[in-house]
Amino acid sequence: MQSTQEPADIAVIGAGIVGSALAYYLSNNNKTKKIILVDRSLTPLNGSTGHAPGFVGQYNDSAILTRLARDTVQEYTTIPGGFDTIGGIELATSQTGAERLQRRYDSARAAGLPAELISPEEAARMAPALIKKEDVTSALYFASDGAASATCITRFYQDEARARGVECIEADITGIHKDGNGRVDGVNTGTAGFIPAKTVILATGIWAPELLPNIDTPIPIVPVAHPYMYGPYHDQKKVPSPWIRWPDHHVYARDHGPFYGLGSYNHAPVAQEPKDTAIGEWISEFDNTLKDALGFIPPETGLTPRETFNGIFSMTPDNLPLVGEVPGLEGVYLAAAVWVTHAAGTARFLCDVLEGKEVDGEIKRGLDPGRFAGRDGKTLRKVALGGYNEIYRVGGAEL
Ligand SMILES: Cc1cc2nc3c(=O)[nH]c(=O)nc-3n(C[C@H](O)[C@H](O)[C@H](O)COP(=O)(O)OP(=O)(O)OC[C@H]3O[C@@H](n4cnc5c(N)ncnc54)[C@H](O)[C@@H]3O)c2cc1C
Repeated sequence: MQSTQEPADIAVIGAGIVGSALAYYLSNNNKTKKIILVDRSLTPLNGSTGHAPGFVGQYNDSAILTRLARDTVQEYTTIPGGFDTIGGIELATSQTGAERLQRRYDSARAAGLPAELISPEEAARMAPALIKKEDVTSALYFASDGAASATCITRFYQDEARARGVECIEADITGIHKDGNGRVDGVNTGTAGFIPAKTVILATGIWAPELLPNIDTPIPIVPVAHPYMYGPYHDQKKVPSPWIRWPDHHVYARDHGPFYGLGSYNHAPVAQEPKDTAIGEWISEFDNTLKDALGFIPPETGLTPRETFNGIFSMTPDNLPLVGEVPGLEGVYLAAAVWVTHAAGTARFLCDVLEGKEVDGEIKRGLDPGRFAGRDGKTLRKVALGGYNEIYRVGGAEL
């Protein structure tokens, strides 16, 4: 493939929170390199980032995810309007749930995160509109958690990257192109012709598998459907409530300021092929899922669905992202199935890898896109989908 353009040193494909963070960190450290950021829609953000309510719970049963979340929060708190440290509360409604919270409390403290077991009364005082204290047997408060404004952070990263010379291009990538030696030399687009690049990073979220159709190693990123709702507008409180999770019931709620939001994993997992955006068609079963979830909210709050949507995000078999060089595709890197909660830390980690810095070997192995080599792709997809209802349990993504 011939091109008269000077090849980019690095082409980041996908300008959601992950790709934009990558453009930002890469341009910070590589001022002489040509870096481009390509997305089929720079405005609006059509991927998952544009729809994430932005819960950030740093503690995770996976030490790798806890580390990435902590690194991420450290970064987000420096971005104007990027992060609100409202705290987060997990609630148990049974003895088993209370025992689990106790274990999470112990592990979070051991990891050095501020965590506190509080009484149901105290929890209800912190979020009176969202907690029925008579339901609660135990509550765990994470004071340094909060809510990220994913769109604000993404815009910040893009603007800063542009100011450092990153070129942002609107184009639909149709394939990765390799030279005669099998090394990547650019990407093909539907509208902007061939774009030459020495290194390509796929930060294409739920669409990541589409650009990797012919590799031997399974890349088990499974897009799933997920219901979320916004409630009616109300007068905003001076201090927003912490986010709330009912892990035993797979339900969570957030104070968005002028309205409340509610989401639930308490339904049969649904794999979803994404089209142009991360919003799928509404699934009628989700009406009941949200109705059940509303049962946890005090009736006097008057929370009813003003707007509902099916937002699509990625699951993987071990609930960890896939980040690193793609096996068998020299020069092609992946940064996918990354939550808002882990985006900045993950982007910084991948930058270090690309810059040849020494990185934590455990994280590198844990995130390696080649870690499923030799496994059966169909089984892996099944396992990834099955993890949806366990999202709050086994090293889940802690939405
Ligand atoms: C309803 C919902 C609730 C969520 N809640 C939370 C939460 O509370 N906390 C949390 O941490 N995470 C949450 N998530 C998950 C989080 O939103 C995602 O994990 C994260 O935004 C992924 O970011 P990304 O940059 O990898 O992908 P995306 O934001 O999806 O960006 C990928 C980009 O790639 C572009 N692209 C794809 N293919 C191509 C192509 N061929 N050519 C050009 N461009 C392409 C797309 O246009 C898109 O802009 C939620 C997600 C949803 C949908």
